Amino acid sequence: MAMMNGKKYIESLRSLHPEVYFFGQKIKSIVDEPMFQPHIHTAAMTYELAHDPEHEEIMTATSHLTGERINRFTHIHQSIDDLVKKVRMMRLLGQKTGTCFQRCVGLDGLNAVYVTTYDIDQKYGTDYHERFKKYLLEVQKNDWMPSGAMTDARGDRSLRPSKQTHPDAYLHIKERLGDGIIVSGIKAHITGAINSHEIITMPTRTMGEEDRDYALSFAIPSNTKGVTFIFSRQTNDTRRLDGVLDGGNPKYGIVGGEAIIIFKDVFVPWERVFMAGEYDFTNELVETFAGYHRSNYGGCKVGLADVVIGGSNWIADAHGINKASHIVDKLTEMIAMAETCWSCTLACSYEGYRTPSGAYHINPLLANVTKLNITRMVYEWMRLAQDIAGGKIITLPSEKDLESPETMEILTECFAGKDGVPPMDIIKMLRLIENMSVGAGLPEAMHGAGSPAAQKIMIARRSGIDRKMELAKTVAGINRDKYFESVTGKDETAHWDKVKKKIKEKEVQIY
Ligand code: SF4
Ligand code: FE
Repeated sequence: MAMMNGKKYIESLRSLHPEVYFFGQKIKSIVDEPMFQPHIHTAAMTYELAHDPEHEEIMTATSHLTGERINRFTHIHQSIDDLVKKVRMMRLLGQKTGTCFQRCVGLDGLNAVYVTTYDIDQKYGTDYHERFKKYLLEVQKNDWMPSGAMTDARGDRSLRPSKQTHPDAYLHIKERLGDGIIVSGIKAHITGAINSHEIITMPTRTMGEEDRDYALSFAIPSNTKGVTFIFSRQTNDTRRLDGVLDGGNPKYGIVGGEAIIIFKDVFVPWERVFMAGEYDFTNELVETFAGYHRSNYGGCKVGLADVVIGGSNWIADAHGINKASHIVDKLTEMIAMAETCWSCTLACSYEGYRTPSGAYHINPLLANVTKLNITRMVYEWMRLAQDIAGGKIITLPSEKDLESPETMEILTECFAGKDGVPPMDIIKMLRLIENMSVGAGLPEAMHGAGSPAAQKIMIARRSGIDRKMELAKTVAGINRDKYFESVTGKDETAHWDKVKKKIKEKEVQIY
């Protein structure tokens, strides 16, 4: 099957009929539900751009399984070049949509499970990797969008999964059968879940032996019996129902649509199970996935920064102040921060490496640094965008008042800027900046792909602090061997053995 375009992707969702609830209602058709439209349109962009000759080099790749051209969102990274193209693709999609395009979570899930199943098989002689490759072939052939379901509901965070009062706080195996497993549990905040064809699950944390049944990874279609989605709310989300203007980014929305996924006695056939009890590999799977996803944020969020920086400059120009030194200074700050994050994400890719599975992984230390920078800098560049836009971004009247004969004229005057700039364009741009800088995109930049504390744990773990200490000891002369060698060019132990040999009775102590 050929790669889908945006239209075909939307049509492909029509036949799925996952069980989705929103506003207390069961949704009959996700494709026709107005509240879901922006998320679906944004994900459709990941399909549409793959057919654009200008972007096909970035948006597509050659499958290492079939040699065929596939959408890069279904590709296993085969080189440093692939890792670089992946983040270029993310910046591009951020620029085109101004929001979260959701499909990266599944892409990272595919790569992380690919890497980890290979390593599990090496240790235990299992056949998870072969199973997974067969599944991957299906994903590539059908050009599916799988969601990546990692975060569990988690209940009491101080207790291990097996010690929770509510047994479904973590997704787990309830029963092992001859042909598969029965699973139950709850996954939360899953991006793009309702408009994905498939769900790939991964453990949310490192599991111990007592949590064996929680060490679990599998893939199932989103319309599998026993799977229910509850779609989450976002700041100002119903604005999109109030007309094209009030939503801010009416076509693509605020941020990727998230959902809670409830698994109730769901049957998963063995051929779709990629980890079932190998708790000693949960850490690898979690860290590999987190590394990939954290490195992405220097791509997608910088694409969004490009939009908001451009919008800020446009609005300053429309208001006749874009040459003012404080405006130039703020815009320059925004650009410098965005490009710092971009440099981080490029470094993650260029410092990547080949895993034993053959797939390439990013540099995990730098990926965590990238994401930690994003949790701070997105707030900072959005703060500057609000500063430049002015107070109007929180006091704009509604689209209905702009259309009303009684108020239209005075409002048009009120929002006029420089001569020649249509006031309606000024309002549109202010709404976009409001949407991007006040909405759910900010906490998403904070907590998506893991909260800052998670990044700090990984940075501390991977910082090589012992080696840094050795470096300091050597420079300070505390590290005797190295210091002696660097000053004299001789091996210290051998040297003193020689000296001791010469001066038999005396103990020599120089340093
Ligand atoms: Fe992709 Fe960024 Fe959305 Fe994550 S936050 S799914 S990396 S666009
Ligand atoms: Fe995210």
